[in-house]
Amino acid sequence: MQPVQNIFPLLIHPKKVVITTHQKPDADAMGSSLGLYHFLIQFGHSVTVISPTNWASFLNWMPDCKKVLDYETQGTKSDAAIAEADWIFCLDFNVLSRTKRMEEKLLSAKAEKILIDHHREPQAEVFTYGISDIDKSSTAEMVYDFIIASGYGNKINGLIGECLYAGVMTDTGSFRFPSTKASVHLMVADLKARGLEHSHVHEELYDNFLESRFRFIGHVLLNRMEMFYEYNTALISIPQADLIKFNVKTGDTEGLVNYPLSIQGIKLAAVIIDRGEERKSSFRSKGGFDVNTFARKYFNGGGHFNAAGGFNKEPMEEVVEKFKAAIKENVAQLSSYQF
Ligand code: 5GP
Ligand code: MN
Repeated sequence: MQPVQNIFPLLIHPKKVVITTHQKPDADAMGSSLGLYHFLIQFGHSVTVISPTNWASFLNWMPDCKKVLDYETQGTKSDAAIAEADWIFCLDFNVLSRTKRMEEKLLSAKAEKILIDHHREPQAEVFTYGISDIDKSSTAEMVYDFIIASGYGNKINGLIGECLYAGVMTDTGSFRFPSTKASVHLMVADLKARGLEHSHVHEELYDNFLESRFRFIGHVLLNRMEMFYEYNTALISIPQADLIKFNVKTGDTEGLVNYPLSIQGIKLAAVIIDRGEERKSSFRSKGGFDVNTFARKYFNGGGHFNAAGGFNKEPMEEVVEKFKAAIKENVAQLSSYQF
């Protein structure tokens, strides 16, 4: 993987570009993709953003989100764009399997693939150019760094600002996680100076839910949360029937794992959801418990040190048992938690 800086001299030559991200994109995935989109189109590139799946409706306000192709419903158009592309930017993921059914097409595409990402253990051999930095707060911050380092910072406008702010704000838990370095605040100050209206972003992301989501959250906190105090652990496990009963939409479960994590003494919080085709898990930890390794070892997943996820094909009961066995195996580390 060559340094991403090597493409800066090539930016002025119009190309066919695809930008893609991980399945069920969150605000960082979508914000960094659309932020980069609004930068690249200013050079006359023909740019297509493709998401492997649908996304939460609370992201639809992002500038030009309507132009993003959903691979599951617009596969033919997406395949054509992938096949013709000169460059494919891969943002906010680092293993092609996270694009689900797009993986094969990305592998066989003639395009040079460019990685911009902050997760652990990249599949470096598939990318021609790239930057992978686990110390970065968000992919949005990395796209900002990319734009500034390219020498074209003057192209950052309010639209790019809103997209990148959405990514950095959500991935830092509204600037509370340790990943919020001085560089994050300096970036936000710079985006403000270039026209960002940050209150608008907060309102779109956090004041836009349907009543059914809160009824659902109330239900799972009351009925689906198990505490394992001897392991400083909490688990929410959600059967598929709950998703149907409360008409749960993509994105409605985002952030759910933060409720158990905010309980006094809890070091590891998990949410396991039966999504029908697979059991999707989310893990969050505080302090020294490495959920990236935990998710890789037991749940076919990965992510960051304190935030990771995975998926299993086994039935729900088996996955929950697997989780209970896994915390037992890690009892030494989990039970010795010091704030
Ligand atoms: P979330 O719990 O919000 O879905 O994901 C938390 C973090 O773990 C995110 O940074 C996400 O990219 C990563 N992650 C979630 N699911 C998976 C997975 O199945 N595989 C890998 N490698 N990473 C995941
Ligand atoms: Mn991210």
